[in-house]
Amino acid sequence: MANSKFEYVRNFEQTDSLLPNTWIVVRVDGRAFTKMCAKYGFEKPNDRRALDLMNAAAKAVVTDLPEAMIAYGVSDEYSFVFHKSCNLFERRASKLVSTIVSTFTANYVYSWPICFPGTPLSFPLPTFDGRAVCYPSLQNLRDYLSWRQVDCHINNLYNTTFWSLIQLGGLDNKEAERILAGTLAAEKNEILFSKFHINYNNEPEIFKKGSVIFRDYELVDPDSHAVALEMDDLAEPLQQSKTQVEKDKKKRAKARVVVEHIDLIKDEFWDKRPWILS
Ligand code: ATP
Ligand code: ATP
Ligand code: MG
Ligand code: MG
Ligand code: MG
Ligand code: MG
Repeated sequence: MANSKFEYVRNFEQTDSLLPNTWIVVRVDGRAFTKMCAKYGFEKPNDRRALDLMNAAAKAVVTDLPEAMIAYGVSDEYSFVFHKSCNLFERRASKLVSTIVSTFTANYVYSWPICFPGTPLSFPLPTFDGRAVCYPSLQNLRDYLSWRQVDCHINNLYNTTFWSLIQLGGLDNKEAERILAGTLAAEKNEILFSKFHINYNNEPEIFKKGSVIFRDYELVDPDSHAVALEMDDLAEPLQQSKTQVEKDKKKRAKARVVVEHIDLIKDEFWDKRPWILS
């Protein structure tokens, strides 16, 4: 097939490689999940089965692509982080995004019957969109993840109060919206507590914080310089030799992939797990 007269059409392909030496975030988001919620009767505000399913699909992506350093999920979205030195698919945006979206979607559909036994899928099937964004500094990347987690908190506090007013308070959507318009977080907490005896702090962590997926090595004491893993193996990724890269890849591929509901905004998570972004 080489050198056929048709081959020139390859030159129409546009290069779309992402800026080198930047952190890549690929975010997938469910298409028209507001309708999906109604169609499959998701519990409001948080259907645990649907969250477990998102986590199962995302865990499969992280397991399948050892280059993914960490992933964060809330609602119908998941963000996958790739190291600034990552060269997967030569950093081609369309290859990265399409592979992640299809791996995620395939696993979502595959795991559906496990999370929703007795509720078969029907058309239209669940689908996801995806995008890739580059973040030039570690601070930008941390801020990105903090942004998603703050969003999770703000939406969850609103939704928990909104649905309590409806499900427990007997209001309709419009009345609940009116009561919540312009309220601060403290006022929502107060409504939950005084009207419904709900202490927001006691709500499940998965609802309040979302889900974090990463490879679990041994925890590091942030105050000591002794590091559990041979950290020098992971340092200076841009100068790593080929064999070193291969060694790291194998190590990552072998590590246990875990799902936790934990704060990513403060330093503690990162200080205890320096390998995640090293
Ligand atoms: P788009 O295609 O533009 O993304 P969408 O309807 O999916 O449209 P989103 O902004 O992504 O809009 O919102 C997702 C919707 O799905 C929200 O209303 C959210 O509350 C709901 N949702 C997602 N996951 C769950 C869940 N586990 N339990 C209950 N509701 C959920
Ligand atoms: P990549 O991930 O880079 O695409 P790949 O292994 O999928 O790697 P392709 O160039 O896409 O590489 O080639 C697809 C391979 O699958 C070829 O070897 C092709 O012969 C084989 N293949 C695809 N469809 C069929 C089919 N229906 N029957 C037999 N072999 C097939
Ligand atoms: Mg969207
Ligand atoms: Mg959506
Ligand atoms: Mg969404
Ligand atoms: Mg192929």
